[in-house]
Amino acid sequence: MMRTTSPKHVPQRTCVACRKVKDKKELIRLVRVSDKVVEVDTKGKKPGRGAYLCRAQECWELGLKGGRLEHNLQTSLSKDNREQLARFGAELSGGGGEALKE
Ligand SMILES: [Zn+2]
Repeated sequence: MMRTTSPKHVPQRTCVACRKVKDKKELIRLVRVSDKVVEVDTKGKKPGRGAYLCRAQECWELGLKGGRLEHNLQTSLSKDNREQLARFGAELSGGGGEALKE
C-alpha cells in the first residue's frame, strides 16, 4: 500500500452567510450566550449554540441582514446586539485584526 502522509485532520465549519466550508480557525464563532444575546466568541470556547462566519465583512452583513445568523442560532437579535456584531464585522476587514483582541 502506497500511502502518502495523510494530512492532519482539521476541523471544518460552514460559514452561515456564504455557506463555504473552511477550517474552523479561519472562521469566527458566534455563540448564543442567552435567549436574546449573541456574542462573538474569539476563543471558540464559550458554551452555547454556535454559528460561524468568515472573517469578511460581507459575510457578517449577509449573515446579519438576511437573518441567517438568527436562524442558525434560533434566536432574534436586538437592535443593539445586531449593531454590535455588525461593528465587529466591519472592524474585521478595516481594522487589521484589531477587533480580534479582547
Ligand atoms: Zn462566509
